Amino acid sequence: MPDLRRDPIVGRWVIITTERSGRPHDFIPVQAVRHLATTLCPFCPGQERLTPKEIMAYRLQPLEANGPNWTVRVVPNKFPALQVEGDLDRQGLGLYDRMNAIGAHEVIIETPNHTDSLADMPTKRIEDVLWAYRDRMLDLKKDIRFRYILIFKNHGGPAGATLEHSHSQLIALPIIPTSVQEELDGCRIHYIQKERCIYCDILRQDLSDGGRIVAENSEFLCVTPYAPRFPFEMWILPKRHAAYFEESQKLQFESLAPILSETLRRMDRVLAKPSYNFILHSSPLHEKAGDFYHWHIEIIPKLTQVAGFEWGTGFYINPVAPEESAKFLREAVI
Ligand SMILES: [Zn+2]
Ligand SMILES: [Zn+2]
Ligand SMILES: [Zn+2]
Repeated sequence: MPDLRRDPIVGRWVIITTERSGRPHDFIPVQAVRHLATTLCPFCPGQERLTPKEIMAYRLQPLEANGPNWTVRVVPNKFPALQVEGDLDRQGLGLYDRMNAIGAHEVIIETPNHTDSLADMPTKRIEDVLWAYRDRMLDLKKDIRFRYILIFKNHGGPAGATLEHSHSQLIALPIIPTSVQEELDGCRIHYIQKERCIYCDILRQDLSDGGRIVAENSEFLCVTPYAPRFPFEMWILPKRHAAYFEESQKLQFESLAPILSETLRRMDRVLAKPSYNFILHSSPLHEKAGDFYHWHIEIIPKLTQVAGFEWGTGFYINPVAPEESAKFLREAVI
C-alpha cells in the first residue's frame, strides 16, 4: 500500500510508492516515450485486454464493454500512484502524520487513433474527452474519502509521457494539494476584501488590456498570465464565473473544445509541437468555494528545466515576457 506522508515543517504531502520501483537503477534521467507498434499499444482498439477492465467508455454499436468501437475509453492506471480500495487510516507517528495513499488513478484514452494528438482531433472528439472528464468527476465525487480530483495531461517524453497514444490522467486525492490550496487561499483573501472573484477580475482587466490575450470565444478566454512561471504558459478561463468544472453544461463544452484546440494548434505552430503539460484546476470537492474559486486550465509547454535556483527559492526565471509570448501565439497563422 503506498504511503501519504506529511512534511511537518511546510505541511506538504508526498506519496511514497515503494511498489512501483525503488532500486537506484530504475531511475533514468529523462523519461523516454515508448514507441510501440499499434499491434502492441495497450491503448489501441483491439488490444483492450492489455489494460485493466474499463471504467467507462463512449462507444458506437455494439455496446460491448472492453470491446472495440469506442471513441473515448477510461481505464484504471496499470501502475497507480494511489490505491482505490481501503481505509485512509490516518495516523500520527510521534511528530509525523501519515495515511494510506487512497485514491483513484485513471487513464482517459482520448482517441482510438494511435497517431492523433489532441491538437489534431476534430473539436467534436475533443468535446467527448471533456464530457468523459466530467462524467468521471461526477462519479468519483460520490466517494466521501476524496477531497480533490486533478485531471492532467503529459504530452511528449520530456513532459512525462511514457506512451505516445494520446491520453490524459485523473487522480482523486484524499487531501487538497498544496498548489490548489495556495490558489484557494489567495482567492478567499481577495473575496473577503473585495467580495469579488479574483479570476473574474483578471478576466475583466485582461480583456480590456488585450495585450496578453491568446484566443477568445463567447464563453472562454485564453491568456498568458501576468506573472507566468514558465515561458509560453497559458491559462484558459471560463468568462462566466464557475468554480466547478464538472457542473459545466453543453454550451461550455461546445465552446471549450474549439478554444482548447485553437490554443494547442497556436502553441504547436509557434513552438514546433513542443512537449507540454496541461492541468485542470477545479474547486475542491466538499469546499464551499463556489463564490470565490474559478476553475481553469493551465497549459505549460516544456521548454525550460526547473533547476537549483527554482528549487532553492520558489522563484522562477522566465526568459519570455507574457505580452511577447501572447503576441506570437495570437498572430500565428493556423
Ligand atoms: Zn495506440
Ligand atoms: Zn470568477
Ligand atoms: Zn491553477
